[in-house]
Amino acid sequence: MAKAPRGERMIITLTGKRNAGKSSLINALINQDVAIVSDVAGTTTDPVAKSYELLPLGPVTFYDTAGIDDVGELGEKRIAKTKKILFRSDIALVVIGEQGITDYDKNFIKDIQQYRIPFIVVFNKQDIQKVSQKDIDYCHVNKLKYYQVSAKEKAGIAELKDQIIALAPDILKHEKVLIGDLINPGDLVLLIAPIDLAAPKGRLILPQVQVLREILDNDALGMIVKEREIEEALHSFARKPDLVVTDSQVVLKVSGDVPEDIPLTTFSILFARYKGDLDKLVEGARKIDNLKDGDKVLIAESCSHNINCDDIGRVKIPRWLTQYTGKNLDFEFSSGHDYPDDLEKYDVVLHCGACMLNQQAMGRRILEAERRNVAITNYGVAISKLQGVLDRCLEPFE
Ligand code: SF4
Repeated sequence: MAKAPRGERMIITLTGKRNAGKSSLINALINQDVAIVSDVAGTTTDPVAKSYELLPLGPVTFYDTAGIDDVGELGEKRIAKTKKILFRSDIALVVIGEQGITDYDKNFIKDIQQYRIPFIVVFNKQDIQKVSQKDIDYCHVNKLKYYQVSAKEKAGIAELKDQIIALAPDILKHEKVLIGDLINPGDLVLLIAPIDLAAPKGRLILPQVQVLREILDNDALGMIVKEREIEEALHSFARKPDLVVTDSQVVLKVSGDVPEDIPLTTFSILFARYKGDLDKLVEGARKIDNLKDGDKVLIAESCSHNINCDDIGRVKIPRWLTQYTGKNLDFEFSSGHDYPDDLEKYDVVLHCGACMLNQQAMGRRILEAERRNVAITNYGVAISKLQGVLDRCLEPFE
């Protein structure tokens, strides 16, 4: 089976105390010996990722993590790593060993609830210690989903997989629509893709390919041209396109070249809707109008080492934002899966396109900014705003 783009994989993280049997459980779930299994507490130090085809859901990544009761300075670092993985997880399994639910587990469960991550309490090692009535009562009182297994004897594993599938976020269970709901069979869609120095050699980028594929899946007609060939393309058609989708970076030129009566949007806006919450990102973009001298803007990238994104996030967006607002803004940059600890000090977060994140993870980034009372938008929506064409680019969704 073809591999799903990395951003689309569901992430399931196994947490719990040392020696709760997390490594054995992950082995049982994927039917392989991926993690070293030992009776010595604390064998897993750094999170171990394992890809697996969890049918009918599709590709998932299981993370095996260090014990939440790990000790010492190193132990604390390992717990911090576990929490970071947890933060971008779609589902967590809180694995309980023969000691039953401890205070460590209870505190960790509170963290998971605060992150709003769906989770299952998994009572492992049922071959040596049955779950106590006290722990069952604890789960009932706190309305926690729980399940009993023995990783060693592979008992209850198939049923646990069913529970995981049932708990998967709807957005991952149902087919997601990028452009399909905006077009009808037979529609003509014109895509604009600049081929500049930043474009990869010999191929289109994934968002362009995904949109083109969905156009074909919907029995519509797709035509892709560079921004310099728009007029020629429009003249060569016997009818007007039903929709034009452009790369954000040339949206101003395209908006001028494409007559007002032809609906227009951008790949970034399609993906902002597909990945997360377009309404919230638009609301965040409108906050740009309120920025004042000295306000702090966080440019947040979800991963490092991407030169193209560096150029957009670190050079172009700060320049456009300064030109648009006419204000003396204070830009700061972050990259990686986590926001800076002092997120509250920023007036707005401009998030990257999140091509490496799935919808849950991007949703959680939006949620965290909201929870901490900071406006958030993303590059694509912000670029259309800064170019003065956001309202036009949102019309196809009304
Ligand atoms: S859009 Fe974000 S996640 Fe994708 S490559 Fe750029 S920085 Fe990384």
